Amino acid sequence: MADGTGIEALIDLMARLPGLGPRSARRAVLVLLKKRAQLMAPLAQAMAEVALSAKDCQICGNIGTSDICGICANPLRVNGEICVVEDVADLWAMERGQAFRGRYHVLGGTLSALDAVGPEELRIPRLLSRVGEEATREVILALNATVDGQTTAHYIADALVASGVQVTSLAQGVPIGGELDYLDDGTIGAALKARRKF
Ligand SMILES: [Zn+2]
Repeated sequence: MADGTGIEALIDLMARLPGLGPRSARRAVLVLLKKRAQLMAPLAQAMAEVALSAKDCQICGNIGTSDICGICANPLRVNGEICVVEDVADLWAMERGQAFRGRYHVLGGTLSALDAVGPEELRIPRLLSRVGEEATREVILALNATVDGQTTAHYIADALVASGVQVTSLAQGVPIGGELDYLDDGTIGAALKARRKF
């Protein structure tokens, strides 16, 4: 049993992280306590700095440390393709695959009747205006193969019909309910290459 409320509070906070239950959180905090100088202090400093500097990219919704993320700020990434993902984790997974050279659009979730999430709660209106502003040729839907993910994909495809832009989706091979973040980089690249008309 940890002695002291500060340490218990830290364990409780750590236990809220994905993949860390109370037991792993306790173990992680113990490692930090043993490596206070080499690990805990630099980690605390890095977290404090990033907590202050992190912001959402005003164009795509990626998280970085400036108003416009590195991808959106790179003129070479403006190639007429926008890849739509649910979450920042999916964007980062796509980038790890190094297969996509265009820009992204992070929705921030999926439409959900159950949770009362409508288009206005997501970045869907912003996507629709971007398609016009950025001379987009193709919108690639890289949404998860869940019911909500596919409902969202259909909603976006319908909303883009009038724009005349080509709408494609990642090839099957993305496992059902499998989130992009859990795919290996080669699989993401293959799914992108074999994308088809939505
Ligand atoms: Zn961006």
